[in-house]
Amino acid sequence: MKELSADFRRLKKGFPGYENRPQQVEMAEEVFHCLKDKQRLLIEAGTGVGKSFAYLIPAILSEEKTIISTATIALQDQLVSKDLVVLKKILSHDFSFALLKGKNNYLCLKREKEYIEAGESYNRFTDWVSTTATGDKDELPFIPDFWSRICGDSDDCSGRECPFYNDCFYYRHYRALSDTDILVVNHHLLLYDLLSEGKIIPSHDQLIIDEAHQLENVISHVFGTALTRSRVQWLLYRLKGLKIAVEHLFEPMESFFKGRRLSQGIEAQTQAIYPIPGAAISGLEELKRLLALDKVISRLNAEKGAILNAEARDRMETTITTIKSLVRDMDDLIEQGDKERVYYLGWNRGYLEIRSNMVESQAPFEGLLRSYESMILTSATLTAGGDFSYLKERLGIVGFREKVIGSPFDYKKQALLYIDRDLPPPDKEKSESFQQESLKTIEGLVNAARGRALILFTSYQHLNFAARNIRMDYPFKAQGDMPPARLIEWFRETPGSVLLATATFWQGVDIKGEKLSLVVIVKMPFGSPGDPVYDERCRRLKERWFSDLALPSAILLLRQGIGRLIRSTDDRGVVAILDSRLVTSSYGRTIIASLPEMEIVHTVDEVRRFFGGEGATPAS
Ligand code: SF4
Repeated sequence: MKELSADFRRLKKGFPGYENRPQQVEMAEEVFHCLKDKQRLLIEAGTGVGKSFAYLIPAILSEEKTIISTATIALQDQLVSKDLVVLKKILSHDFSFALLKGKNNYLCLKREKEYIEAGESYNRFTDWVSTTATGDKDELPFIPDFWSRICGDSDDCSGRECPFYNDCFYYRHYRALSDTDILVVNHHLLLYDLLSEGKIIPSHDQLIIDEAHQLENVISHVFGTALTRSRVQWLLYRLKGLKIAVEHLFEPMESFFKGRRLSQGIEAQTQAIYPIPGAAISGLEELKRLLALDKVISRLNAEKGAILNAEARDRMETTITTIKSLVRDMDDLIEQGDKERVYYLGWNRGYLEIRSNMVESQAPFEGLLRSYESMILTSATLTAGGDFSYLKERLGIVGFREKVIGSPFDYKKQALLYIDRDLPPPDKEKSESFQQESLKTIEGLVNAARGRALILFTSYQHLNFAARNIRMDYPFKAQGDMPPARLIEWFRETPGSVLLATATFWQGVDIKGEKLSLVVIVKMPFGSPGDPVYDERCRRLKERWFSDLALPSAILLLRQGIGRLIRSTDDRGVVAILDSRLVTSSYGRTIIASLPEMEIVHTVDEVRRFFGGEGATPAS
């Protein structure tokens, strides 16, 4: 424990701008004990605690190999490009750290050669291929549309058996990581590693999962299956390269994924369709029959014995693995017999995809637990209604120590909570009048704050309506106007600007200072009926669906949204929730009790007074 205090003192001395926070030291002590005693810990650390240093320092001090898993690229970048770099300079302990990404982030030498052999050219790309030392696609200023044909793919990779293994970009990086002390990964990679029985991440003893509130959904996705056009198309290219006659299969494959052979009513749309319509299943059966993959496997098996060339032989062997995996998934999607999954049809860029997702995550989480001696789950939002029950139930967590560390920010002084009492409730029947009337309130709030606002919607439909009809004197943009990272930059750099957004922006925006002074939550972020996984979870919970799922998951997301506002001790601002159910419904009190304590107001005038003026001039 003395070492821990000494390291925080070093941090204070050596890191300009570092603010000493008792909450951070408290969290570090909890993490330190957990790792030292090989325990398991659930720890919520409110916004501003500085939780990354609070788990990184004890992990480094423990001298045990540690995996840190994050949900977002933003946090991964912060850890690898900032926090660990600072700690390496300042701490007296020497340690190594690295980022491990999935194979599909690296150029695969085998597949790249095959791509060239197929007569494909990629002029703008050749320079990079011949000069890159890492093969990491993050070096590229653009991602070519054929990247999926030349990047690594686990099904098509025989690892040590691959003739390119010694020079392979991915494995060169991987081999250098076996002795790394702190290895940063994302939740997807962590779970693919579990699925592959530890073949992806070098063995480590300790696991710290940050942004752990997102773990359940990643488990659901990773333990599911997906049949996509690019997957089948890539296989056809491979078979063509192996001199198997497949030219006649491209058209029916294209036709199936375009949905042309399906009955009317299954046209491209944003909502998932489930159960999967019978026409789609018959189309898939027909496609499987046409592909005749069993025959292809027999032929490859028969031919490969006579092949002496190592590259050609490896290509055949991994093709057989790829086909077996595809056939397994096609059969699963046709039969839809696994009661642990929900099956649905969705659309992506005009092509249909047939997918299955895991409904419950307890079994995979149990597998994760067995793989590490100590485990810590942390996030700014793990509790709903004052305890960890929701997360514990969703992941099947038992026997973890529990700790909540509040935010160092003084929300009572720094923030105001506006709750609208007059708008119609935003439920299905009233949604149109709610959309119309809430627009005026949004305009009033934005004027009161002199722009500087993030408006968070729960649906694209409502977002688009607002973007089309909103009237204000402040520069504004809506999600979709430019890529998310550029949109956030635009917001940061444009004085008095307003950003209308949904989905990822509830969690991904970190803007300190007065540039973001108002966060408007237009509607409580209840899970949407129409999401197959959410609907199935609700169905299984029967009458407990609202109390055990809908309400706590909405509270977590609401707390994430509110967390965008106050990012430092100097920040001031207003959170406005336009959902009048917070004051009219029986559950409204539970929601309000789950939020940081703030003064509550109900009129736009009070918001204007908070900002100290009439609010007509754009802020500079
Ligand atoms: S080992 Fe071979 S197949 Fe696997 S990623 Fe490397 S080059 Fe590609």
